[in-house]
Amino acid sequence: MFVTRFAPSPTGYLHRGHALSALTAHAAARQAKGRFLLRIENIDATRCRPAFEMALLEDLAWLGLEWETPVRRQADHFDDYRAALSHLVGDGLLYRCFRTRKEVALASASAPHGDMEVFTGGPLSAADEAQRLTAGEPFAWRLSLGAAESKLGGFSSLTFTDDAIPVTARPDLGGDVVLARKDVGVAYHLAVVVDDALQGITHVVRGDDLRDATHVQRLLQALLGLPTPSYRHHSLLLDAGGCRLAKRNNAETLRSLRERGMSAVDLRGELGFD
Ligand code: GLU
Repeated sequence: MFVTRFAPSPTGYLHRGHALSALTAHAAARQAKGRFLLRIENIDATRCRPAFEMALLEDLAWLGLEWETPVRRQADHFDDYRAALSHLVGDGLLYRCFRTRKEVALASASAPHGDMEVFTGGPLSAADEAQRLTAGEPFAWRLSLGAAESKLGGFSSLTFTDDAIPVTARPDLGGDVVLARKDVGVAYHLAVVVDDALQGITHVVRGDDLRDATHVQRLLQALLGLPTPSYRHHSLLLDAGGCRLAKRNNAETLRSLRERGMSAVDLRGELGFD
């Protein structure tokens, strides 16, 4: 059975780009006579707001989407993420990172497309770490690519399909990613991989901005003994200036389109759906 999901973070109002992702995943489920799930990715209490969550449910219903209930809300499932984290810590695959944001930036290289930070700084010395632990300094947990590579005997067996094309994962391109943030206690890649498995997701259908994230997510599936879904990434919508639609670029929200009198049918049509 085909099972897919739309997984927005309630950090702002949805825009056309979200509508495209949601409609693409929904249409894929319908075509495959499968299931469509909604997941609220709200682990980051510093940025997520209940009002945005309510608004997105309203916007998706306005768009004409239907999803199964209950909806999984990540903030209600920290125990699941902590269990996965302990598993990885227990296997010696993570290390503590006490560095500040600035220190991390200094110890990182920019990824080829500039969006992702590639941390290559490694752990502190045992003495330095012991001192900071005693001082009660907060820390993040990072995935040690070196430890992961030793455990798996290399990454060459880590394959997945992206748009039906077989790909060998290159988690090394993303560096030692954070799996538990200092402030939140978990991080995106870990929560997504755990949830995709717990929700029985067979097909991940999402925007091109997350294509590169698949590589480390495939590695985490291997380390946690979780199944690997098939992946499909759709191209992103661009604004008139050629920038991708994003909250930070003030993309027009679905509510604003609605207030201007646009109907859901018009928007679906504009995005290529009936
Ligand atoms: N919550 C993520 C976002 O809003 C999507 C995660 C995913 O689809 O894997 O960008």
